Amino acid sequence: MAKIRIGFKTFGCKLNQYDTDFLKQVFQDAGYSVPNRGPYDLVVVNTCAVTARSAAKCRQAIRQAARSGAKVLVTGCYSQVAQAELKDLPGVVAVTGVLDRESLVEIARKALSTGETIVEVKPHRAGQPFQETPVREPSLTRAFLKIQEGCDDYCTYCIVPYARGPSRSRSVESILEEARSLVEKGYKEIVLTGTHIGLYGKDLEQGKAADRAGGRNWHKAQDKAGEYAHGEKIDLPLVVRKLTEIDGLIRLRISSLEPHDVTPELIHCLRFPQVCNHLHLPIQSGSDKVLKLMGRRYDVAGFLDIVNQVRKVVPDIGLSADVIVGFPGETEEDFESTLDVISRVKFSRLHVFKFSPRPGTPAYGFPGKVSGKEMERRSKAVIALGKELSLDFHRKLIGREVEVLVEDARARDGKLQGVTRNYVRTWFDGPDELKGRLIAVRAYEASSEGLLCQPVK
Ligand code: SF4
Repeated sequence: MAKIRIGFKTFGCKLNQYDTDFLKQVFQDAGYSVPNRGPYDLVVVNTCAVTARSAAKCRQAIRQAARSGAKVLVTGCYSQVAQAELKDLPGVVAVTGVLDRESLVEIARKALSTGETIVEVKPHRAGQPFQETPVREPSLTRAFLKIQEGCDDYCTYCIVPYARGPSRSRSVESILEEARSLVEKGYKEIVLTGTHIGLYGKDLEQGKAADRAGGRNWHKAQDKAGEYAHGEKIDLPLVVRKLTEIDGLIRLRISSLEPHDVTPELIHCLRFPQVCNHLHLPIQSGSDKVLKLMGRRYDVAGFLDIVNQVRKVVPDIGLSADVIVGFPGETEEDFESTLDVISRVKFSRLHVFKFSPRPGTPAYGFPGKVSGKEMERRSKAVIALGKELSLDFHRKLIGREVEVLVEDARARDGKLQGVTRNYVRTWFDGPDELKGRLIAVRAYEASSEGLLCQPVK
């Protein structure tokens, strides 16, 4: 009998990408076929809820899958917070959240065989442990490695803590196990992934403290993390240090950090030769008033101080950021401050978001809405500034030899592509044999998108 064909459609962040890789694996292990191309019997849509636009794209993908004749299983952040919006869409046979991902196979089997729509979204609870979802074969050349999930910060605009639940950390031992296996398989770069990786270890430390006080027993993963740490504080710098001790790991990317998580210990980690000279620091706004309204835990002076400290250690670091424009109450003056701070920091890349009110978050009801037209104008201005700064950053690399990790997928024009250590996208000609390898290229032309390069013989 032909195997049931399962397709996957992923929205949102690196974490969702990682989760999809895990889901593909569990379906494959259970005997399903997971081909890259349709037609499919069932499409798993791994959703994102971060903005109204991402939610709309997910609904569109569900309708599209249904039109192709497939049944649809909806999972991920959007279904965790808004199952009612999804369960009656055409083709939907199951809706699940972000917990117990392994159970998706059984849910899919039941839904396909009974024809009933199954809704199984488990609520988050305080103190829930990290659920292991190890990935054997990441789908991208740069291997994402999940170390943490959830967030405790509750910024006023953000739906993520409701969707992903409280912060919980994977054990140090389990992280190292997966990292070693990736290195053995030939992956050259590991990208640390999580909802808010700066919170790594907080729950494990709390578990340790409770255990010392005789309050409760650690669960197994926490216990292992404690053993591994040998009495050291369990935090992100510890994980980074342990990972850099793995023989054969060439690149380690910390990637996204909340500004207030950039501690002296973390800055010290940037000195390790394996740790890439790139950080994504979501500044969100350059106005102290707006940062306060957003519930962010730093002010502009603090942010600039962090940037200075980081640049003292790594002068050529690539600093990218997220920026939200049109937050309720953002005046022209606040917006000008944002432009000013962005210019002063000289970010290498910007991701610009228009404020999107998410139901259930405090900012949804904030007064002082900025009109759509004005939001559009501000967004365009920040995007234009971001492009200028990217171009400046890229121009500085012209004529220089840079190391790139060659990705599997070619660019649309057929060129090979890869990113530098400081996260600049590069394109160059070359044979397929270079895919997955670290090579030296020389940059000869810059754009705001990246660099045209030539491989160095
Ligand atoms: S730190 Fe703030 S913006 Fe980031 S996930 Fe947590 S609540 Fe959302």
